[in-house]
Parts: sequence; C-alpha cells; structure tokens
Amino acid sequence: MSVICSKCGQDAVYLRRYTSERLCKACLVQTTVDRVRKTINRNKMLEANDRIVVAISGGKDSAVLLDVMHRIERNYPGSELVPLTIDEGIKGYRDEALSAARKLAETLGLKLEVRSFHDMFDMALDDIVNTRDESKPLGACSYCGVLRRRAINTAALELRADVVATGHNMDDEAQTVMMNIMRGDGRRIGRTNKPRSSAIQGFIPRIKPIIELSERDVVAYAHHLNLPYHDIPCPYAVEACRNDIRLFLNEMEHKRPGTLTAILRSGESISDALLQEPKKYVTSTCLQCGSPTAADTCKACKLLDEISSRELSDKNGPKTRGST
Ligand code: SF4
Ligand code: ZN
Repeated sequence: MSVICSKCGQDAVYLRRYTSERLCKACLVQTTVDRVRKTINRNKMLEANDRIVVAISGGKDSAVLLDVMHRIERNYPGSELVPLTIDEGIKGYRDEALSAARKLAETLGLKLEVRSFHDMFDMALDDIVNTRDESKPLGACSYCGVLRRRAINTAALELRADVVATGHNMDDEAQTVMMNIMRGDGRRIGRTNKPRSSAIQGFIPRIKPIIELSERDVVAYAHHLNLPYHDIPCPYAVEACRNDIRLFLNEMEHKRPGTLTAILRSGESISDALLQEPKKYVTSTCLQCGSPTAADTCKACKLLDEISSRELSDKNGPKTRGST
C-alpha cells in the first residue's frame, strides 16, 4: 500500500522525520522552498535589490542553496544572484566539483565566478599541506576553512556584493555548535552567527538560508530534482574532527528526531545572549587586515605569515658547508 502525502494526498516519496511530514515530490520541493523563504524572512537576511553572492562548492548543499534561491529571487527582479566557487587547489577533487558547479549555474542561466587559492595566496591547498611543518602539523581543514573565508570575502568585495549566502545546513550548524562547545570556545558561536544588521565594515555580511534544512532534506531535494552535484568526499575530510561529531549526532538524531533542531536553537540562544553583552562580545580587530579577532592578528593573517615564512626559508635553502 502506498504512503500518502500529508499535504495533497498524492503518493509520498519522502518522510521529513523531524516534522513527521510525508511528502510527494511537488510538496517536497514546495515545502523546502517555503522553509528557506521563512528562514530568510525570520532572520531578515535579505533586502530589496540585493546583489547576492552565493558561495557554491559543487556539492549537494550549495546546489540546493542556489536552486532554491533562484526559485525565490526570480520573483524579485531587482535582486541578483552571483554564484561563486573558490578553487582551493585539491587535485582530483575540486576540479570535478567545479564542473558540477558550472553545469548547475549554466542550467539556471547564471554566470559562475571562480577564484583560486593559487591566484589569491600564491599557493594551492595541496602545496600548503605538503609543505606544512611536520613537527606540529595543522590539519588541512584548518588552513582550508580560514583561507576560504578570507577568499570569499575578498571576492565578494570585488564583486560588489551586498551579502554572501553559504550552504550550511542544519546538520553542519549543529556540528559547529557542538565543536565550539567541546573546544571551550562558546563565544565563537556568536562571532559566526552575527545578524546582518551588525556587520563589520570591510566584511560582507554572511547568511545561511538553508540552515533549517536537514542533510536528509537536502539529499532528497537534490535527488528528486536531479540537480548536478559532486558527491565524492574531499581527500582531506578524514582528518577532520567534525567527522566524529557527525557520526555521534546522526545517531542521536536517529534515536531522538529533533536533536539537531534543539542544538540549532541552543546556538541561537547563545548568540542572542552574547549580543546582549556587547562589551564581552566585541573583540579587537586584526592589526594587519582589520577583521574581528580576539588577538592582535587574525587567524588568516597568522596562517598567511606562516606560509610565506616557509616559502622564504625554502628559497634561502638550508645552509650548506661551503656556502658563504
Ligand atoms: Fe577544505 Fe577540509 Fe572541506 Fe576538504 S574537507 S574542502 S580540506 S575544509
Ligand atoms: Zn588579519
């Protein structure tokens, strides 16, 4: 016996566990777009005539983000979507993801902007990782995450964006909240979730329109609409501590549907509480680039300094007997 859509009575193809909705394909698409629209409105993420840079990686999350944003924004002729991909330089991975991103942008009639670590920082991520200090190696994701943030902001400034949309889903966000708590850095939850109204000068505000969609929602939407995306994991992903937390939270969500939403709400409460205490919340700014940081120099500038000092010592080479 077929299962019936809770909205329209057609055959259901998907069960959204945390709301207990059974959905046919059309209602899956419609409720997904509605959830994202509601998230945008509730958090005042967009304004009239916005130029919206949509950061897309070629993966499923950002494919869904761009498709849904395109469906919503086509009703607002003054707004503009500019898809942007950052090519970190991960051999055999990013190249394929890039072609999926190109295909998606093309299908939607949008021009994809591409910027690379190599052009922006003179080094691809693979080179940064291969030359890292073996005695105290930083994970590839530490370089990648920090430098990609910097690259997106630089590109968004150059593209005269009003706002940058990223494809973080509910699972990603719950993992991030947990990771920050486990590292004893609860304040970072506030720093990464600033509302658009309190954006810092020189930094294009960031929004996360699909944050109320679970990873299962994203997969179901992408699958039923046959969106082009690249689904092979990054070769460096095994290094990430996020993986352990993902497994743990998946198990919790399976046993107790709604766990991810509850963590999301806890993250929002922490951010709200921090915003009420601006003195504690506001940190200093980086002496080199002006971005908000708890120290004199931000993480991106520290990493870039470290990378360029490596390059310098490579160029000078080791002192050998006989050299002057
Ligand atoms: Fe970058 Fe890590 Fe993501 Fe790979 S898994 S793309 S290295 S952040
Ligand atoms: Zn800096």
